[in-house]
Amino acid sequence: MAIEKTFSIIKPNAMKKNAIGDIISMFEANGLKIAAAKLTILSKAKAEEFYAEHKARPFFGELVSFMTSGPVLLMCLAGENAVAKNREIMGATDPKKANVGTIRAKFGDNMGENAVHGSDSPTSAERELSLFFEKSEICNL
Ligand code: ATP
Ligand code: MG
Repeated sequence: MAIEKTFSIIKPNAMKKNAIGDIISMFEANGLKIAAAKLTILSKAKAEEFYAEHKARPFFGELVSFMTSGPVLLMCLAGENAVAKNREIMGATDPKKANVGTIRAKFGDNMGENAVHGSDSPTSAERELSLFFEKSEICNL
């Protein structure tokens, strides 16, 4: 099966919990590899562009302000079925509804501060990766 790529963010609340290692271990234990990584603080403009599809939602302002509140780890994850696999490892958007053992169940605080982002389709993955990484920054593993 072809290797798929997806985009992942460790959000500011999980960064504050010193959980990079635990979260990456969960990806690796499930067969995903880190093909690119960048630790940064998002600008307001970049966060707004990234979440453009949610612009009209009531939580948009809060979401952008949270996502720019501290460092984040941006990653490209690669592996078989990476988009769907990552969503499974992450768990449901609302940490209270996320299955036991998922990242959001372990490190999420609430709907907004839910520890991680993961692309919801191969098309979104391509758009999101191109927002944050040059093609040359993503390793072909
Ligand atoms: P993500 O896109 O971050 O992987 P998702 O695809 O599970 O999460 P979306 O519906 O795309 O969820 O929402 C994007 C993000 O917006 C969520 O991860 C969450 O942080 C925030 N969000 C979604 N719904 C709410 C809400 N009702 N209240 C506050 N924040 C929300
Ligand atoms: Mg989403």
